[in-house]
Amino acid sequence: MNPTAHDWIAALAYLEASGIPMLHGDLPTIEQIQNGWDAPPKRAWRAPVLQSDPSTPDVPPPSRQQMPDQDPPAFLKRQSSKSGAPPPAKTKTTPVEVDVPKPLELPDDKAAALEHIAQFCKSCERCDLAQTRTQAVPGVGSPHAPVVFVGEAPGADEDRLGEPFVGAAGHLLDKMISAVGFQRSDIYIANVIKCRPPGNRNPQTHEVALCQGYLHQQLEVIAPKAIFALGRFAIQSLLGSTDSVAAIRRRQNAWRGIPVVASYHPAFYLRTPARKKDGWMDLIRLKQLLNEPPA
Ligand code: URA
Repeated sequence: MNPTAHDWIAALAYLEASGIPMLHGDLPTIEQIQNGWDAPPKRAWRAPVLQSDPSTPDVPPPSRQQMPDQDPPAFLKRQSSKSGAPPPAKTKTTPVEVDVPKPLELPDDKAAALEHIAQFCKSCERCDLAQTRTQAVPGVGSPHAPVVFVGEAPGADEDRLGEPFVGAAGHLLDKMISAVGFQRSDIYIANVIKCRPPGNRNPQTHEVALCQGYLHQQLEVIAPKAIFALGRFAIQSLLGSTDSVAAIRRRQNAWRGIPVVASYHPAFYLRTPARKKDGWMDLIRLKQLLNEPPA
């Protein structure tokens, strides 16, 4: 597989934004490409070896203090703090019994089905988040997306604008998306939780139970070739696991038969730029999955 000039620009933009010098080596600069360079280098382009390759030693998982993203979310496991770091602010939770809502009846047409789900999200009052949201954020993108990027829940910017990943983390996500050769309109982006938890707290068990059916139906309708799960919350809730992101990243994962590439949340990469190379590895893995012929 030889990358096109567009691929190179996208990859270099991601690497530059990520502050990763290691892969630049003898690669052309963006300016060189824009000024007419468009041949791949003489040597064949090779994807960096993935962590899942058994011949490569695993990168040791970072400590919990470095990696708050690795703690299981409150709805899956109680938070503990062996490291001595102050425990995260506790939210008072009252166990709530919920009847998991029945799936919606959807039209056959994919765009119409997604619109139908979005309308339900927008008028949904299944949980208290309906009282504090400005608006629900169902998801955005192509009904025929080859890949769905799944995040946790809307933040303040998303609550205001009604679209997922439009804040600082969203800008990095845009670079990640373009590094695999897509624009936002080619793929689909959605969150596990459709309404903003106040103060950006973790979603609670009953909120996930009541809301995740919307995401599941979006995924069923789109039937993408792959899911790219961003951060422990999306990963653990999709895969029904309490394992750390580091552990899950080393495995091959699937949701109802659709391969899931597990990656850290863009907000984590922004806080810890040195780890953006992990995101790059995950994107390469995604690109490989998307290039695979159908089984
Ligand atoms: N973080 C998320 O997980 N989702 C968003 O939509 C924005 C930030």
